[in-house]
Amino acid sequence: MNRTESPGSRWHLFAEACFIALLVVLSRVDWILSSLYHSAHAPTAVAGAVSLLFVGLAGALYLAALLVPRAWSGQVLRASVVMVAIYVLQAALRELPFMPLTLTVTHKVVAIVLSAAVAALMALRMGDALWLRTRWALIAACVVYALSPLILVQFTAPKVTVQVPPTLVNRPTVFLVLDELNANAAQPLIQALKAAGAKVDASVVAAVGANTITVLPEMLGAGHLPTAKVCSPSAVCDARGQFDFRQLTFAPSQHFHVVGFFHPYCEAQGWSSCERFGVPSVGAVKSLLCTFTRVLPMASSDSACEWMSPARWLVFREQVTSAVLASSFWSTGGVLFAHVPLPHPPGVDEGTSLEFDYEKNVAQAAIFVAQVWAKGQQSYGDGFQLVITSDHPLRPELWCRQAKYRDAGCQVPVNSQPKQVPFVVASSRSNTYPIPSSNGEIFETHRER
Ligand SMILES: [Zn+2]
Repeated sequence: MNRTESPGSRWHLFAEACFIALLVVLSRVDWILSSLYHSAHAPTAVAGAVSLLFVGLAGALYLAALLVPRAWSGQVLRASVVMVAIYVLQAALRELPFMPLTLTVTHKVVAIVLSAAVAALMALRMGDALWLRTRWALIAACVVYALSPLILVQFTAPKVTVQVPPTLVNRPTVFLVLDELNANAAQPLIQALKAAGAKVDASVVAAVGANTITVLPEMLGAGHLPTAKVCSPSAVCDARGQFDFRQLTFAPSQHFHVVGFFHPYCEAQGWSSCERFGVPSVGAVKSLLCTFTRVLPMASSDSACEWMSPARWLVFREQVTSAVLASSFWSTGGVLFAHVPLPHPPGVDEGTSLEFDYEKNVAQAAIFVAQVWAKGQQSYGDGFQLVITSDHPLRPELWCRQAKYRDAGCQVPVNSQPKQVPFVVASSRSNTYPIPSSNGEIFETHRER
């Protein structure tokens, strides 16, 4: 780079525009990792959307800089580099103890004004040489901050082995995790199983968390990570620790067959067969652009970007339930662990209330468990057992924010057991299956590191 050129030279403007675009891409690391972790988009689609964002933004900023007077454009771009760097690093600043837990509009406006003041000061007062050093330092800090969880997880995530207590799986067993099944919503499932001839032992157990992202890892041996979020394409992390599906082994001696969604189950090892399904999503480019609506001070969480298409969820559920019924477990035996998006909203119709959708999905779940039971009888006769539980109850606080339920109604059935989920065992014999104290203690897990 020719450092004798003025800050307003074309080369400088182009370089600053590229650095701003790079920092904006770094600010989307959460989206990139989540898209890969949940398999919401193919890796090539993620790479394509990110490249498009980088090229589009760098190009637009460069052209815009050429259009404003040269005396200003260099300074404006410098100030923008600082602003975006502060934005990337703000997540680290928010970890500081004196920061508020949730940011109000006032907090956001004050933060933007303060950042703009710091940025303007740096852009106007710094000499060229000092600016160049400062810019590299800011970019290095942002790269290290954005990528550090990814690197950390490689060295610190424990190796975990998961198995069913050996005395309980001396016969072919299916574990169904029905996502979002309330403790007091299991009755239609119990009736369907009884009608199909099963002996049913129904109880409730404590749910170890309120969301899929924390409970399933804990069920598989992560330990309690109550604020876990995605921190690599295969791991979740919180301040207490990490859980990487790549470090998870399903005990090979128990012949696990796995079908699931949301988590990258097939990154684990030791399974006899595994199928995971990507969560339905809008296209990668739209999904990436939608993340910016949350950046704006006035952004609300009921954006159309977040609504799930009932038609796509219908197809998606059909794929997961069909995979359960087509698993090679039904011919080879062992254990089938299935995480199924039922009665998880949305429903199958547009314009219906949350209560209506949930009831309909519970009815669909009852049909499905009866199908699983019938398949077990057909394949293994009286030797078969089916265990049904859930990760967490229905989350009205999440769903009622969605535009559909705000419009169509967000009455939900009263949940008298808000922190519990069903634990239902169906078999042909009298049950002696022990009831765990929580849904985090269904399996035996062994951690090595
Ligand atoms: Zn869930």
